[in-house]
Amino acid sequence: MSEFAERPIGTRPRAPWPAATTAIAGLVGFPVGHSLSPLLQNAAFAAMDLDWCYVAFEVLPGSLDSAVAGAAALGLRGLSVTMPHKAAAARLATRHSRQVRRLGAANTLIFQGGAVLAESCDGDGLLDDLREGAGFDPAGRRCGVIGAGGAGRATVLALAEAGAAEVVIVNRTAAPAWRSAALAPKVARVGRPEELSGMDLVVQATPVALANFGGAREEATAQPGEEATAVIAGVDPSRFGAGQLVVDLVYDPPLTPFLLEARRHGASVRNGIGMLVHQAGRQIRLWTEAEPPLSAMWAAVGVEPGGARTGQL
Ligand code: NAP
Repeated sequence: MSEFAERPIGTRPRAPWPAATTAIAGLVGFPVGHSLSPLLQNAAFAAMDLDWCYVAFEVLPGSLDSAVAGAAALGLRGLSVTMPHKAAAARLATRHSRQVRRLGAANTLIFQGGAVLAESCDGDGLLDDLREGAGFDPAGRRCGVIGAGGAGRATVLALAEAGAAEVVIVNRTAAPAWRSAALAPKVARVGRPEELSGMDLVVQATPVALANFGGAREEATAQPGEEATAVIAGVDPSRFGAGQLVVDLVYDPPLTPFLLEARRHGASVRNGIGMLVHQAGRQIRLWTEAEPPLSAMWAAVGVEPGGARTGQL
């Protein structure tokens, strides 16, 4: 049972569908056209034979309040929240999980009666993927995080709560890095880029290699053999090597220049698709109280369960 109350669930009618009984959940963000969440969530609801349907809504920056009020009035069961609305989602919720209170950001809303409950599944989704997909348990391990935005902060908190011995944060600018380190003052600190060569795990949590980042799709897509300009925030992945696990939270392209370079030098690498799958699974658990069908969700994004056997990270 989640920390939020129980939700009713219904079986999907054979036809026609969606029906008058169909429960609706959705995604709010801007933009949302590229999102894999509808694919993932609808594949899960179908595999579960649930009378639920998931839709993406493009919500302009500054308009989340009216979107959430409208969603509540229309009887939606839950929302996934992506950029740029995560902080606003935390602000307007009426009840917050401990993670949301600490991060000041939420990626999940649950509508319950008149209440709007906020949760953050990103950090725990990453931990699920590290443990189940890469066999990596952060407890007692030395970890590095590049980036100090929403994803970087969620990563720092999750690694610290999972018992990491140390979390070293490297960011392009200083102030966000200090704020991120303050989330877990016992183990997290701001560090120098070269320190990450000694870490067991390095998580790249900036959008630098994102396919549509800065509108430069071709430039950002790594090809085998391509000479990649992979240094991010001063971190040179050619200094990584065997015994290190390097994760890039970007999953489009699946192999970023940063990962390609780390892999060339012997590190194990993994992209962000597993984090996406697992955080979606956690949202399904919160909304429906049922177990998410992770195999169907991996299949929906075209990756073997766990993401391991394809070598695709
Ligand atoms: P964000 O809040 O906008 O933070 C972006 C971070 O990247 C900041 O620390 C920023 O540094 C840094 N940055 C931006 N451009 C940079 C550049 N050119 N060089 C060096 N650093 C740069 O974004 P976010 O929400 O944390 O998302 C970060 C990435 O994680 C995105 O690609 C997102 O798609 C991905 N993500 C993936 C998942 C998943 O499920 N796989 C979930 C969440 C996020 P400054 O502080 O100096 O501005």
